[in-house]
Amino acid sequence: MARKAKELFIKTADIIIENKNYLTELDAAIGDGDHGVNLARGFNKLKEKLKAESFESRSELFKLTAMTLISNVGGASGPLYGTAFLNISKVISENELSLDDLIDISEEAIAGIQKRGKAEAGEKTMLDTIIPAAESLKNSRANNLDLNTALNNCLQAAAEGMENTIEMQATKGRASYLGERSIGHQDPGATSAYLMIKTFIENSLK
Ligand code: ADP
Ligand code: MG
Repeated sequence: MARKAKELFIKTADIIIENKNYLTELDAAIGDGDHGVNLARGFNKLKEKLKAESFESRSELFKLTAMTLISNVGGASGPLYGTAFLNISKVISENELSLDDLIDISEEAIAGIQKRGKAEAGEKTMLDTIIPAAESLKNSRANNLDLNTALNNCLQAAAEGMENTIEMQATKGRASYLGERSIGHQDPGATSAYLMIKTFIENSLK
């Protein structure tokens, strides 16, 4: 299980690195143009570490990811993603993940991001992708949907959440300095969060 999770993190790193310029362009429109550069720096470092080490558990792997992102990403997003992964490392099961497990994980991730960044839904941040994704998982559980359907719905909710940031005004982070001028642009952090969720889901559906 830890080996599969390691491959998943390497894939996630590759996707973020491939999208470095896109994420940076999104950040140039409403921030300081470094989101892709920041994340690519952290994920390149993570890839190096993952390739050099083997892991006994998922928990250890999530913790290393958290620490690597916290110390190498910089910007607001490094500590925010780092805390999310650190929180996940404390609860992640070493067995096959159920829908209940995925709900716990997403709630832990949100709690970590909110503890650090104090943002709520609708403030034009990464949470506007992650919160709808988590809500979708809970709706799927309430409707007794199977895991694959739940994951497909979750991915769609994450995409819609990301797209909905275009019309939002930023009230947290650097983009909030722009006030109303932040409207009309997709949030970079909501976009990187979508890319991560997409990689996680697409590779677990196989
Ligand atoms: P910085 O803004 O320091 O340059 P990045 O460019 O790496 O950092 O990341 C910007 C992204 O971080 C934003 O697009 C937003 O999604 C996210 N972000 C900023 N502040 C917060 C916050 N308080 N809570 C959640 N996410 C935030
Ligand atoms: Mg930035």
